[in-house]
Amino acid sequence: MSRKRQSRGICSYCGREIAKGGMRRHLMACPERQAVIAAAEQGPGRTETLFHLQVEDAWRGDYWLHLEMRGSATLDTLDRYLRAIWLECCGHLSRFSIRGWGSPDIPMSRRAKEVFAPGRTFIHQYDFGTTSETRIKVLSSRQGKPTTGHPIALMARNVPPEIPCIECGRPARWLCVECLVVEGVFGALCDEHATTHPHKEYGEPLPLVNSPRMGMCGYRGPAEPPY
Ligand SMILES: [Zn+2]
Ligand SMILES: [Zn+2]
Ligand SMILES: [Zn+2]
Ligand SMILES: [Zn+2]
Repeated sequence: MSRKRQSRGICSYCGREIAKGGMRRHLMACPERQAVIAAAEQGPGRTETLFHLQVEDAWRGDYWLHLEMRGSATLDTLDRYLRAIWLECCGHLSRFSIRGWGSPDIPMSRRAKEVFAPGRTFIHQYDFGTTSETRIKVLSSRQGKPTTGHPIALMARNVPPEIPCIECGRPARWLCVECLVVEGVFGALCDEHATTHPHKEYGEPLPLVNSPRMGMCGYRGPAEPPY
């Protein structure tokens, strides 16, 4: 077992940094989140089933999100959200299923409340060549009014994992595409080595962004939520 430091993330409501394993419990207790929920209940929205989803890259789980999704929203809405925050490079195909390859597609037109239930897990796959695989765990559901005007609310997100520079081991902020394409190495570089690194064939190093798709296909970020 490696003694890798547990991934950490930021609660969108209070801004606190919490270990991955404690975020679910934190969100249930977070006073700032409770205040947002209470305010929404006083507002004009319609009560419906809201799902608490934990979303993570299926590879290492270093990239993760806690989302609250309206039961009336379709899987297509979640697909578009994941593309915006993590995945979109060249408009590849994507699919939801229970177990990934070999298990049947769940149509994008299905509503969350038709397929989600606490305890269920789903796999989202983006790009059927260089596939990004995302695991979606339905942690819980509640009856309430949505806390935002959007179908999905971002409740928490991982802090970017520290990636060491391939030349000196200090924290990297850049990625050399030539290292990736020509040498098959994840060419992470610190500020200093981004300027002295010899590879220029594929242009200047790209900024590292908070996405599990970095280094795959033509992905360039920006890894920002759509709303
Ligand atoms: Zn909080
Ligand atoms: Zn692509
Ligand atoms: Zn360096
Ligand atoms: Zn390089």
